[in-house]
Amino acid sequence: MPLPSRAYDAYVSDGAVADLRGRALEVLLGPDLAHVVDLVAWLEPDGVHVASSTGHSVLTGDGPARVVSGVDPVSDQDPLSDTSYPFAAERLHSLFSDPRAPDLAVVHTGAHHWPERGGHLGEHGSLNAVQSRAPLLLSGAGVSARGVLDRVARTVDVGATLSHLAGGTWEDMDGVPVDLVAVTGGPVVGLLWDGAQCADLLHLAASGALPNVARLLERGCALRGGAVAEFPSVTLVNHTCALTGVGPGRHGIVNNAFYDRDLGRQIVPNSSATWHRSMDYLRPGVTTVFQRVPGSTACVNDPVDVGADYSTFALIRDNGGTGGLLAALPAPAEDPHTTVSFLDNPDYAWGSQVDAVGLVQVLDLWRSEPPSLMWWNTTLTDAAHHAGGPCSDIARAGLRDADARLGVWLDLLVERGLLDSTTILLTADHGMQGADPSCVGDWDVALTQAGVPFRDEAYGFLYLGEFATQP
Ligand SMILES: [Zn+2]
Repeated sequence: MPLPSRAYDAYVSDGAVADLRGRALEVLLGPDLAHVVDLVAWLEPDGVHVASSTGHSVLTGDGPARVVSGVDPVSDQDPLSDTSYPFAAERLHSLFSDPRAPDLAVVHTGAHHWPERGGHLGEHGSLNAVQSRAPLLLSGAGVSARGVLDRVARTVDVGATLSHLAGGTWEDMDGVPVDLVAVTGGPVVGLLWDGAQCADLLHLAASGALPNVARLLERGCALRGGAVAEFPSVTLVNHTCALTGVGPGRHGIVNNAFYDRDLGRQIVPNSSATWHRSMDYLRPGVTTVFQRVPGSTACVNDPVDVGADYSTFALIRDNGGTGGLLAALPAPAEDPHTTVSFLDNPDYAWGSQVDAVGLVQVLDLWRSEPPSLMWWNTTLTDAAHHAGGPCSDIARAGLRDADARLGVWLDLLVERGLLDSTTILLTADHGMQGADPSCVGDWDVALTQAGVPFRDEAYGFLYLGEFATQP
């Protein structure tokens, strides 16, 4: 694996960054923050450094990590374990290959609760297995019924799999097609249930609580290890990975918010005001699955839509932004697939509205000539998991609502005689972990008190130095 290089003009000199980094690390790795800082990662000429309160190692990109002191913080990379850091070396190397990467990536502990900075009871974004593990199910044409397998894939493999199945190229991607499905030439559908936790999804499908996921599984298989998201395990990074087949170091969407040194300003690709323009920040030469496959394509409710013949977000762009769409959303209580008892949660209500519109589009598309490749993003599941944490009543209600909407579409496939010829992939963009409400603390406060100049994007991406403007 080639080492990433620091190919940009630093806004402060390398020597000054190293000095600031040393001062920041002293604060971040101290005992006062050990309960909230799992580890810190940064790039140096000899590799990606990873340090925690108990050790420091260098991921050189070639062979095992070199331990600098103590224990290697990411020594356990067993992809099927829930206490590991799956693919940590590859994932960190990808992030730090893009000059948009921070000077220090601070990784939250799984327990860290930070409501004062927008954190929820359910969180994701970290390098650990639970926050990174999305489900991965394959079903229908070309897939044999094999149940749940002790296997694992990566989110970049989703893009390679979809492109391969729909007749496109994948060889220059970071991911590879999952070898559990054969190309049949029939329609290919990717479903992304944002924030759906792998273990609970499989548990609920087995216990009968998600009958339509169970329908998929009866005709296919699931990976117990799911699809491991790229780092950071956040939404826009991994929607982009799933639909381009490359990691953040190549597609350039390195976080839901980041600082672009070349542009000299903050970029926020993941907000309701900016989603429709987020692909403006895709690095040149990066292509989506929609651009790679020969047939007709549709991208429902996902901002990563470059090249899709039908796209919700293209309609939003054509209508001058998200304002009109948001104003036109249906009343959530009128949707028969919504758990109305959670509509007092505004995020649940909004996700329900968006997903109701998603289903309308999907049914419209499949009542006529179905697309060769369709991607269908479900939003509610993320809001529901954030609100209560995985396995909570509200998280499971979100999954049930998504399952009900999936069932309406599956019934249409049966009615139209298309179920047997369609290949379906179900995944998510990251995992989800329950925070410990008593585990609080804030590294930004500690760094400020120590006199370290920095800006913190998306609560964890630290860019060091003085910034003339703070847009
Ligand atoms: Zn997400």
